[in-house]
Amino acid sequence: MAKNDPYEILFEPVRIGPVTARNRFYQVPHCCGFGHIKPRGQAAMRAMKAAGGWAVVSTEETEIHPTSDLSPYAEQRIWDDRDLPALRLMTESVHEHGALAAVELAHNGFHAANLFTRMPSLAPVSMSINTLYPKQARAMDKRDIGNLRLWHRRAIRLAKQAGFDIVYVYAGHHMSTAHHFLNPVYNQRSDEYGGSLENRVRLTRELLDDAREEAAGDCAVAFRFAVDDMEGPDGMQADEEGRAVVEMLAELPDLWDVNVAGWENDSVTSRFEPGEGAQEAYTSFVKQVTSKPVVGVGRYTSPDHMVALVRKGVLDFIGAARPSISDPFLPEKIRERRFEDIRECIGCNICVSSDSHGVPIRCTQNPTMGEEWRRQWHPELIPPVREPARALVVGAGPAGLECALQLANRNCEVTLAEAGGRLGGRVLSESALPGLSAWKRVRDFRVRKLEQMGNAEIYLESPMDAGTVIELGAPHVFVATGATWRRDGIGRTSRKPLAVDSSMAVLTPDDIFAGRYPSAGPVVVYDDDQCYLAGVIAELLAEQTGDVTFITPAGVVSPWTSYTLEQARVQARLVSLDVGILTNRSLSGAAGGTVTSSCLFGGNDLAHECAALVLVTERVPDDSLAVSLRGNIAGGGTAIETLQVIGDALAPGLIADAVFSGHLAARDFQRDPDEVERELYLREIPAL
Ligand code: ADP
Ligand code: SF4
Repeated sequence: MAKNDPYEILFEPVRIGPVTARNRFYQVPHCCGFGHIKPRGQAAMRAMKAAGGWAVVSTEETEIHPTSDLSPYAEQRIWDDRDLPALRLMTESVHEHGALAAVELAHNGFHAANLFTRMPSLAPVSMSINTLYPKQARAMDKRDIGNLRLWHRRAIRLAKQAGFDIVYVYAGHHMSTAHHFLNPVYNQRSDEYGGSLENRVRLTRELLDDAREEAAGDCAVAFRFAVDDMEGPDGMQADEEGRAVVEMLAELPDLWDVNVAGWENDSVTSRFEPGEGAQEAYTSFVKQVTSKPVVGVGRYTSPDHMVALVRKGVLDFIGAARPSISDPFLPEKIRERRFEDIRECIGCNICVSSDSHGVPIRCTQNPTMGEEWRRQWHPELIPPVREPARALVVGAGPAGLECALQLANRNCEVTLAEAGGRLGGRVLSESALPGLSAWKRVRDFRVRKLEQMGNAEIYLESPMDAGTVIELGAPHVFVATGATWRRDGIGRTSRKPLAVDSSMAVLTPDDIFAGRYPSAGPVVVYDDDQCYLAGVIAELLAEQTGDVTFITPAGVVSPWTSYTLEQARVQARLVSLDVGILTNRSLSGAAGGTVTSSCLFGGNDLAHECAALVLVTERVPDDSLAVSLRGNIAGGGTAIETLQVIGDALAPGLIADAVFSGHLAARDFQRDPDEVERELYLREIPAL
């Protein structure tokens, strides 16, 4: 490494109390859906980050007591020494690759419903728990506070036995008891733990003091603190009480891990915060107040931005959850100056959605995420094919691009044929919609890599039919021809076509992608897909026509986006654009410039005048090429040995699903079909 190399600063070791991080790349705690339930998956995923060069690799929230039970969500757990073997698996796997292991000890207070343990939830005062369940948390008395401190101390002793190098005190995301005590909205106590800031900080200070004593110089104590509640004057604000807390506790922890609350603000999507460093305006003061190292996050993927943060004294560590999921080898790629190889996070929060669903983590950009153990996938390595092979991939959407890239990585001779004049398929179309420009990275990363490969040929403007495919003579064909949005109104709510008069202008998302939409309203957008797309289209059309009514059988706009932490913002955006929102309604007819909707729960038909009706309901897989090829193969006389349909042409879903499908097909290529069938993937089954 050259002496005056600007990136060298990112690879300086940094002391955190008694331990030393080998560089400035810090994987902050993040959920992963493995939790305590799937320890092998958890350990292998975290180990991959360590192998990729992260200096610190953290767990997710780690419940310290049965009164902090986040079931059915799969989080980490450290209730007693029976949890140690699973935790050791993680620390040892991380240590093997030279990284430090950190544990985010958490007592989740009224954020924990305790559905598994059936224990009472605990809170500063008696209040409803913050998940939708008819239960109130009990007000903590002094004994409860004393117990909480004892549980936290015990957890630190256990964490040391498990081999962790860094233990956390956690006051963030409105998800921990320490944070609930800090926040004046939740803490309305009248004793010495409530009221003034000094009083509200008391519990956190005690936890930090206890932690230092228990750590006893064997491991470092990190403090994760949300400097701003993002609730305006009702909560803590970074330039007022947030700063005051940092001043009061400045030298107590060995490391400050700072962010903003709640999770939807900490992990804000690119749709609502397109750039890097969205939190800097809130967190950049921290380093001026403490002499201890500071880590912060901001969906950082640009090495120059990272260098500037360290040089300007904003952060000591480049913190990352999502960029480390999207590219576990990000630090290594920067160390080797392979910036072009960085698989940049697109800020879509599909990773978050897996935690929301309680299943192992997945990622749009990185299809190997969460598959490190059960499928033994590595994000950077893929075994070469057993026999040299020639493959044709038809369609260059996310599925086709990923499949072609991985087949090329496996040393196949690959031809990628795309009907249109541009590569990217739906990614290109969707990323042109308001707020989704970062999604284009899914296409750009793969196209960039494919263009560098000597064994991949790309043909644009090449619509393939059975004849041209057979003529090309590739023995292995992958059909990634995508799907088409329905024009007949069939969707989740109605399995029958909608009665539409021929005078009605009906549009689908495919028309919108092609720029075919009216410049003036009124427009009705009907969303029976209930995912994200209709909300984005309504936003676009509201900006273009100024007159949009959004009708959906769902109870809110784009309900699926609650899994990506966006729903409130999506609906607020439409409200701010004066979009008329009608929920719990399905369409009953469309004729003569009028759409009729009915309440799902009976009666109350409404008529809506409109110049155009946009139907966002369901897609039809475009597998016609595969169907006719199958006919030809059955008839004999083609050189085709294998034929596979992938991505949306097989089963329409998320972009993440299409990428995964393309990746899976490339990985499984030339695998013994019996083996694929038998070992779909490894499973973690409790030993009895
Ligand atoms: P996926 O999400 O499964 O990748 P997309 O709809 O994003 O699907 O992409 C499908 C791509 O396939 C589009 O770019 C489309 O132009 C292309 N395509 C569809 N049919 C053909 C065909 N017969 N020949 C070549 N390309 C095709
Ligand atoms: Fe980033 Fe999306 Fe991957 Fe999450 S799922 S890490 S937000 S690309």
